[in-house]
Amino acid sequence: MQPKTKLIHGGVFGDETTGAVSTPIYQVSSYKQDGVGGLRQGYEYSRTSNPTRHALEELIKDIENGHAGFAFGSGMAAISSVMMMFGAGSHIVLTDDVYGGTYRVMTKVMNRLGITSTFVDTSKLDNVVAAIQDNTKAVFIETPTNPLLKVTDIEAVSNVAKEHGLLTIVDNTFTTPYWQTPLDHGADIVVHSATKYIGGHSDVVAGLVVVNSAALAEEIHFVQNSVGAVLGPQDSWLLIRGLRTLGIRMEEHEVNAKEIVKFLENHKGVSTIHYPGIKSHPGHQIANKQSRGFGGIISFDVGSGEKADQVLKKLRYFTLAESLGAVESLISVPARMTHASIPQERRAELGITDGLVRISVGIEDIKDLLEDLEQALA
Ligand SMILES: *Cc1c(COP(=O)(O)O)cnc(C)c1O
Repeated sequence: MQPKTKLIHGGVFGDETTGAVSTPIYQVSSYKQDGVGGLRQGYEYSRTSNPTRHALEELIKDIENGHAGFAFGSGMAAISSVMMMFGAGSHIVLTDDVYGGTYRVMTKVMNRLGITSTFVDTSKLDNVVAAIQDNTKAVFIETPTNPLLKVTDIEAVSNVAKEHGLLTIVDNTFTTPYWQTPLDHGADIVVHSATKYIGGHSDVVAGLVVVNSAALAEEIHFVQNSVGAVLGPQDSWLLIRGLRTLGIRMEEHEVNAKEIVKFLENHKGVSTIHYPGIKSHPGHQIANKQSRGFGGIISFDVGSGEKADQVLKKLRYFTLAESLGAVESLISVPARMTHASIPQERRAELGITDGLVRISVGIEDIKDLLEDLEQALA
């Protein structure tokens, strides 16, 4: 099945009971039993499983080419639950510029449970190897990263992880399974903030996990059911609806992103453009090898924080907001928004300058987006 077809026909198609073409929202907590323990379709209580959530979980499983999928109340609930599979005394190696929430949960919450972490630039394989300790259990990579779009070689990291008996976990939020399927490159677990491209319309907070084996499926379901980090049926339904159009949306995000990159490359007021689709981008070749597309996130430098403010004020179609991956174009200033909690020196080391702006290119008409950027940057 081709990717766009799988988005529509993958998982559970419609409702077996009524023939409804769309999976209904099963707004229910408990299910009638025919005698004690006599469950009709395996459903007992909706924290454990719910038909609408199940339909979503089957769909994301198929799209990521995995063994089983799980839907969580947020991306952070998904990531935290994955980490809770590891016990006290475990150590995790992570990409140094992971999503801020991932950094926070590892250094301020998981540490309390005795799970320690080391953050390294995973785009260089030697760093990953050097960070592995006797008690390391997994390598967690985000590729590409935010906001500098650094790329990590999933296959290379997975190979190193396998040699050391570690799991490879990939945060696939930015590229989405339409363009990148990490399990095909040797990863064991994929996590998503489905709040972004998978939902796609800035109207739902959710997370997804897909694993590549029955053993991991059992383990993550055990944690999910125990801690209760589940997604409700309404939000599950919204994600199924979002996934149906993921393919056409991602194609359109990318067409627009490439046009904007071309425009920015020829603009005098802009320096250093970060986009994995640019041939000179350090991660271009690896991105080209492991992804079918480069996505819709671009960051670039306008020179200073003041200049960034001037540009923001003039823009009409790029909404100033955190988050990304929706139909509408969004813009943010990482140094003062998503990455404000990182000390100035560390930001400078990472390359997150005050004049760096990040755009999440929407699917508006490209003519309007280009005109808007042109007048704002003038
Ligand atoms: C937003 C985001 C998260 C966290 O997801 P929430 O749904 O906000 O909890 C994790 N990873 C990445 C890459 C993100 O962009």
